[in-house]
Amino acid sequence: MTNSLPSHVGYAVIGAGIHGLSTAWHLAMELEARGKGTGADIVVLDKTGPGAGASGIACGCVRNLYMTEPLHAILRHSVDVWTYDPVAFGFQQVGYVSAGEANQAADYERLHASQQRANYPSDLYQGKEARGFLKKIWPDFKTDGIDVVLHEKVSGYAGTRQAIAGLAQKCRDHGVRILSGVEVKGYDIAGGQVRRLHTNQGEIACDAVVLGLGAWTPRHWEMLGKPATIEARYADGGSVKKDMWTYWRLLEGELYVDKPYRTAGDLDPPVLHVELMNTPVVDQTGKELADHLYVYWKNGSERMDRPGVQGGTIPKKVGPKAVTDPYGHANDEYQAEPEFADYFAAAMGQLMGRFEGCRKNFRDRRNGGIGAFTPDNVPIFD
Ligand SMILES: Cc1cc2nc3c(=O)[nH]c(=O)nc-3n(C[C@H](O)[C@H](O)[C@H](O)COP(=O)(O)OP(=O)(O)OC[C@H]3O[C@@H](n4cnc5c(N)ncnc54)[C@H](O)[C@@H]3O)c2cc1C
Repeated sequence: MTNSLPSHVGYAVIGAGIHGLSTAWHLAMELEARGKGTGADIVVLDKTGPGAGASGIACGCVRNLYMTEPLHAILRHSVDVWTYDPVAFGFQQVGYVSAGEANQAADYERLHASQQRANYPSDLYQGKEARGFLKKIWPDFKTDGIDVVLHEKVSGYAGTRQAIAGLAQKCRDHGVRILSGVEVKGYDIAGGQVRRLHTNQGEIACDAVVLGLGAWTPRHWEMLGKPATIEARYADGGSVKKDMWTYWRLLEGELYVDKPYRTAGDLDPPVLHVELMNTPVVDQTGKELADHLYVYWKNGSERMDRPGVQGGTIPKKVGPKAVTDPYGHANDEYQAEPEFADYFAAAMGQLMGRFEGCRKNFRDRRNGGIGAFTPDNVPIFD
């Protein structure tokens, strides 16, 4: 990896997370296919290095469980990228199972129909069938409150570090340069286009810029002179003013397991997401815990030093401003609090026999990370 800054580049991609790297790789392939250039026309700049942002710490769940319907087709496409080279990207296509209570039935029906339209294969189970489906995979699943299940067959999870390493290699294979330690500090704009980048290492003239900045996007949005709010219009003609970006604190952690976490058929289980809107979660002493609404988990993790599972719960809102540096586990302000571990472990024990009393197995380490979300409540971009 050479850090000599070119004075001019065709395409500058800012941010070497999953989006910057994937965009650079696909752009290189597209330029080659159209005979309009090669990866050598592209440079990826990162102020730290590949995977320094959310992409290096995420749980890595690949799913289509979004109420924002236009995302369903985008996520169909994203699965095609994961399956292009699942080994290089550490993609495990184990499926994604979301289970809800009766109040979720209408939402899940809508999701299922939209996923079918987007050619994203999934099965919907209700009532006894839903509970039977769960029991077949996890015989110790305590399914009493469950009334609806959506099984996304092509979803799964990825090793996030492996995905970043795999994507960086794809970029390099096509001649894309990835420069670490280059921080973009400003933009020269002419005729509505970015023409030059100011960095801590000098200036780069460029023909086009791609921002893959994750949680740092709002800052650059501001640098580019874009508005802090947006007018969202409803179909009935009404409208509401919203913050353009909202930060959320993601709550995730890991739990050691004594026995491998497997299905009844000794397979790696699907990623599991359970909505607990009407079921209070209680700890081992019978104390009701503050409601987090849902819990999700999947097998193992690159971050584990022993066999375990990794998962989380609903993010917590921070607001339109947040401190992005230091990022992730290094930022004291956004660490997951012990109450998260209490809830995560208690909910898992309440849902599966094998996890009863598992609080003591919660891996005590730093867990923190923020994301900037769009006005329709999606991380830029999952
Ligand atoms: C704890 C956590 C768990 C998550 N779990 C999941 C999950 O299970 N499934 C899922 O789909 N999504 C998940 N997400 C969301 C997902 O991880 C992010 O949406 C995604 O990784 C963002 O990728 P990105 O490439 O856009 O940004 P990032 O990965 O954040 O990359 C941005 C890069 O920009 C660089 N940068 C910043 N400023 C500058 C600058 N001025 N100049 C140059 N470089 C700069 C940073 O160093 C960084 O490397 C999770 C997020 C978090 C925080």
